[in-house]
Amino acid sequence: MTTSDTVAARNLETLRAAVTGEVFTPGDVGYDQARQAWNLAADERPAVVVSAESAADVAQAVRFARAHGMRIAPQGTGHGAEPLGPLQGAMLLRTSRMRSVHIDPASRTARAEAGAAWQDVTVPAGEHGLAALAGSSPNVGVTGYTLGGGMGWLARRYGLAANSVTAAELVTPDGRLVRADAGHEPDLFWAVRGGGGSVGVVTALEMRLYPVSEVYAGALFFPIGRAAQVLRAWRAWTGTVPDEVTSLGRILRLPPAPEVPEPLRGRAFALVEAACLSDAGTGSELLGPLRRLGPELDTFAMIPAPALQQLHMDPDQPVPNQGDGAFLADLPEAAIDAVLALAGPDADTSLLSVEVRHLGGALARPAPGAGAQPAIDAAYVMFAVGFTPTPELAGPVRAHAQAIKDALSPWHASYDYYNFEETPGAASTVLPAASYRRLQEIKARHDPDQVIISAHPVRPARP
Ligand SMILES: Cc1cc2nc3c(=O)[nH]c(=O)nc-3n(C[C@H](O)[C@H](O)[C@H](O)COP(=O)(O)OP(=O)(O)OC[C@H]3O[C@@H](n4cnc5c(N)ncnc54)[C@H](O)[C@@H]3O)c2cc1C
Repeated sequence: MTTSDTVAARNLETLRAAVTGEVFTPGDVGYDQARQAWNLAADERPAVVVSAESAADVAQAVRFARAHGMRIAPQGTGHGAEPLGPLQGAMLLRTSRMRSVHIDPASRTARAEAGAAWQDVTVPAGEHGLAALAGSSPNVGVTGYTLGGGMGWLARRYGLAANSVTAAELVTPDGRLVRADAGHEPDLFWAVRGGGGSVGVVTALEMRLYPVSEVYAGALFFPIGRAAQVLRAWRAWTGTVPDEVTSLGRILRLPPAPEVPEPLRGRAFALVEAACLSDAGTGSELLGPLRRLGPELDTFAMIPAPALQQLHMDPDQPVPNQGDGAFLADLPEAAIDAVLALAGPDADTSLLSVEVRHLGGALARPAPGAGAQPAIDAAYVMFAVGFTPTPELAGPVRAHAQAIKDALSPWHASYDYYNFEETPGAASTVLPAASYRRLQEIKARHDPDQVIISAHPVRPARP
């Protein structure tokens, strides 16, 4: 037990009395559930877990932690928990009970409390014919995803989710609840839009929504034996499509699990998944060159925008997993061959999925008045992931993901994607160099003692 554990235990009743949410320490009934991240592979063992119900609770928790010399790890769902480590002696500040969302159809904006998952926003926004810049999974948290950039199915048309944030409410490391927007707290407003969560604990985000009620979207499934042909054809096709098309090429090995539908269960595929902001006729025409390859299964159709979150078939329940990713400056045939050697039909791999997403479009153009990720200087992004139902599998899965990343190193961009970097590493490796330097200055002003623990740490600039 550390010094902070002891101090916290002695004074915890003060905190319990000050918050409407719950407070847990090791040994308490409920501690294990409260510390559990969505990624079941993460084993967080903080000295205190505060499950906040409101921004006022967050402020109380931050002040308590400061008074007792504890560091603070803010967390919503725990999808991104892997890089954090065990959090020994720290406070895990969970916002997962703060899920209320307000959609304003007139101004086409949403306000989401920090614990909201994307489905809490996409579904009510969809009732007004509006779409949010959500990612592939309905249960990923709005806050962590957006703080790290946020790339989803509308990304090539509308850019990063972070650059559609219009305001953030946060508790600063000194315990003040502030609103950061175009007219207030310019540094904090800049930092939270793509720079991660290192400058405070976000309690709510406001963001723009877009008039997208339906999209032409789906997947083409090919037997994995055709992976080379399919990925090369998809790569060539990405050079021809307009910004209205966001797509990915993927190798997917589906487990023989009962929840996987029969024609897919236990089989391996090469896939193209895409979303086209168009009617069915235009979408069909755009898809023509890939469809003519003759997929085994073709799920493309007009779908409501919220249904985009089922397209990638992300797990709907917490799972233990390990993954890794990299921004790629390009994806020539040699890069595809490198992926196929490690994950293709003949590979001995424990990875469930290796995907390459097509970037460019609005992602490549500096967003006006943008935050810490103004534009993505990479043409593609790779992400490799595997399930780790037993701890012994973590090593092999991590090694296989790392091997793919290494094999692609000749084509790496100058930094990695914040949200797809699941191994511990400084924010300097996942942000443009100029952004990291500015973030260091902001960290030095707002959190010189590094009280806030974030997925990718920022070292404060030296005075
Ligand atoms: C199944 C799956 C699908 C994904 N799909 C996509 C995708 O399509 N596009 C994409 O860009 N990313 C995607 N990701 C990556 C995802 O965006 C990151 O893992 C992200 O960090 C998850 O955010 P979260 O809030 O759910 O997770 P959390 O683990 O709760 O948060 C991650 C980090 O965000 C910060 N944070 C969270 N809440 C706060 C807060 N209130 N205040 C301050 N900091 C905070 C903390 O540093 C925290 O460690 C996916 C991940 C998974 C597991």
